[in-house]
Amino acid sequence: MSWERQINIKGPAEIKIMREAGHINASVLAAVKERLQPGVATADLNAAAEEVLKSHGCVSPFKGYGHPPFPTSITVCINDEMVHGIPHPKRKLKAGDIVSIDCGTIHEGFVADSAFTAGVGEISPEATNLLEVTEGALYAGIEQMRKGKRTGDISAAIQNYVESRGLYVTREYTGHGVGRKMHEGPQVPNVGKAGGGLLLRSGLTIAIEPMVLIGTHETRVLPDKWTVVSADGSLTAHFEHTIAVTEGEPLILTVL
Ligand code: MG
Ligand code: MG
Repeated sequence: MSWERQINIKGPAEIKIMREAGHINASVLAAVKERLQPGVATADLNAAAEEVLKSHGCVSPFKGYGHPPFPTSITVCINDEMVHGIPHPKRKLKAGDIVSIDCGTIHEGFVADSAFTAGVGEISPEATNLLEVTEGALYAGIEQMRKGKRTGDISAAIQNYVESRGLYVTREYTGHGVGRKMHEGPQVPNVGKAGGGLLLRSGLTIAIEPMVLIGTHETRVLPDKWTVVSADGSLTAHFEHTIAVTEGEPLILTVL
């Protein structure tokens, strides 16, 4: 994947549309979260997401993306699966699983991108800690999304938050600018040095997405050419929001 991608600054009218896209995306994720019960097939989660998207006249940028074309509107990852898991009618959730759901929404030509990880029924203390650290790392990154900071400040905040708590953060998969395309510049790695990278300006819209693993930062891709799993089989989690840099506080677009 090339990261010589264009950086597009958005004006207030474009941010407003992206906020609407983010709101719709949040309602899709909320509908899926309600269905995280033992016995539910991951394909049913995708169907629930598509119903909400359709009710808003929207589609997901995931469907048909890449090579081979991604077949569904959301990704569903269970336990050691980190990102890009493909929903399937025979894959059923079990009590104690942790499940990561990632979804995008295209609304009036703009994309919102967001993800969360949640438990199915009771989960282990180890899994609970993983979820808390990953979500905490997302907000540590968001806190840096201020005019005058740099993308390296976001990366360093995420890496420090995770590693100071004894967990591992992915090297290969990164946050990214988002707008008319799902992936724009700048690339925002989940590891890096404070003070480096691109200067943040008001009107930049970026998807920040820490992916955290319990036993290693190493991953591998399954033969389906999409599903990314931890190399050692340990649990993983993923939280993501699309955020706008403003003149003041960071504005999280992918909330209800
Ligand atoms: Mg995403
Ligand atoms: Mg993303």
